[in-house]
Amino acid sequence: MSSSSSILILLFPLPLILLLIIPVSIGIYVWRDAKRRRMNAVLWTIIAVFAPTLIGFIVYLLVRSNYSDLECPSCGTPVTKDYAVCPKCGAKLRMSCPQCAFPVEPDWKVCPHCAAPLPEDIREVTAPVCRKDKALWKILAAVIILPIAAIAILFAAMNIPTGTGSCGMQEVPFDDYREIVSETTLNEVKEDLAGMAQEQSLDKAYALRYERTVNGNSEYFYLLLVSGAGDQTHTSFGQSTGLFGTTLEVNLEWTGSDNSVFCLVSSAANPPKLKVTVDGKKLDCEIKDVSYNPTVYLTEP
Ligand SMILES: [Zn+2]
Ligand SMILES: [Zn+2]
Repeated sequence: MSSSSSILILLFPLPLILLLIIPVSIGIYVWRDAKRRRMNAVLWTIIAVFAPTLIGFIVYLLVRSNYSDLECPSCGTPVTKDYAVCPKCGAKLRMSCPQCAFPVEPDWKVCPHCAAPLPEDIREVTAPVCRKDKALWKILAAVIILPIAAIAILFAAMNIPTGTGSCGMQEVPFDDYREIVSETTLNEVKEDLAGMAQEQSLDKAYALRYERTVNGNSEYFYLLLVSGAGDQTHTSFGQSTGLFGTTLEVNLEWTGSDNSVFCLVSSAANPPKLKVTVDGKKLDCEIKDVSYNPTVYLTEP
């Protein structure tokens, strides 16, 4: 397996996973937050996760401000501002009259409920504190950053030409081909092609590939045989390089003629994939690596 195809397998699910992180983390956040505030956790989690374009989550953030988000400063238990003591650890959360337990304010001297005088020592309370909500900022950051990251990966994964490598293609009639290549090459080509195409299929393209490296740069030569696609008056041909490697694309039309072969040359970092279409239909492409140059392109140093 080439390195580019393993990158493909690794990267393909990544944008999806990134985009899944958002609803999952929103769901967990809303579930926990709603439970603390004694809101309907099931209902709000469903709304926040499944309402489209985060509208459910936004509505939740607006509605939840009506519900307490206070906690006991001693033990962290969720409490409301009406609690006089923490139900879990007993910490005194707000001042109250020692006689009738009516809630009182720090600057009051007398209880307005039972008229008892309020002693100094009741002022020693640990008022409930607002919960620190770091998770919300993480989610908001994820909502902004993850889609951008997912789009960036998708973009990188698609075949964006990076401008590396050049290519060329030439259709060569058989008669010319026989004259250009040496007899040795001709015999080897005949043998190799015969070995590949026992019964030549119209749905298949056959190619012999020769790779050579000059000064650290690779060049790939392809001799391409497509049954019934000779004598092309116009063809389209191009090379694109992306994260998934380089692709050589040859678009032909059905002419019914077997009179010619196609010679391709490409310089790329990795062996390019061949994509051959006839009248827009993609053909299976069988490629055989050979140790000689089967094309009419010259490879003398
Ligand atoms: Zn407590
Ligand atoms: Zn009182």
